[in-house]
Amino acid sequence: MDTNQIRFAIFLAVFLLMLGLESIIQRHPTVDAKTRRLKINLALTGIDILVVRLFFGAAAVGAAQFTEEKGWGLFNYLQWPEGLEIFLCVIILDLMIYIQHVVVHMIPFFWRFHIVHHSDLDLDVSSGLRFHPIEILGSMLFKLGLVFALGPLPIAVLIFEAVLNGMAQFSHSNITLPASLDRLLRYLIVTPDMHRIHHSVEKNETNSNFGFNLSIWDRALGTYVKEALKPQPQITIGVSQFRTSEEVSLKNLLMMPFRKIPAGYSVSPDEK
Ligand SMILES: [Zn+2]
Ligand SMILES: [Zn+2]
Repeated sequence: MDTNQIRFAIFLAVFLLMLGLESIIQRHPTVDAKTRRLKINLALTGIDILVVRLFFGAAAVGAAQFTEEKGWGLFNYLQWPEGLEIFLCVIILDLMIYIQHVVVHMIPFFWRFHIVHHSDLDLDVSSGLRFHPIEILGSMLFKLGLVFALGPLPIAVLIFEAVLNGMAQFSHSNITLPASLDRLLRYLIVTPDMHRIHHSVEKNETNSNFGFNLSIWDRALGTYVKEALKPQPQITIGVSQFRTSEEVSLKNLLMMPFRKIPAGYSVSPDEK
């Protein structure tokens, strides 16, 4: 199997597992039709994959192979043991993705694209894939820059991308975990209840819990919110600007960044 097949196999396995669990241990009541949202979120994913393929191919892993051959980047210079390097690269990449997430909330121009992710009226495994194609392209460019700076082993990038993909599906899933397990997991990783707070319409909650994999960045950098104002099953999911399913159709999602976005959520107040 090549790297794309491995990635797709992991994606599919986690997707089906979460989808199955959502039907058995659902956490939050839904307000929008699930099959309709699944279709929209998967269609958006299909467009994202096509766009990224078109522009980049297997870019991040490819870039890591390139920097390895050239001896470019921090880790190619340091020549540390492989295990340590993989461990550090995965952690550093996770911190960088956390910072990227804070930035797309802070800067109104980026929020125009990221709002597509937040406009989902329900959260489930498919929400973890719901991003505007231009945000996906921007993330890819950012990741390529990181790979050139860090010079990580290609396997480290592959592991990070597979973990990020699997975790995004887990943390968006609409599943109930025993409270004690949620508490335990949250010391290290982002759980569905923790990330659901990030998708609340309450602005203070939207601008919290930015982590994707590790929960430690939110705790260490003061963006952690343990509990929402409302109990988990009553959290209103989405953004206040878009409350009906018509407003978040596939076409409207693709056009959303180019429309006037009313006074918003971005951390900085100048989006009017
Ligand atoms: Zn966000
Ligand atoms: Zn999310």
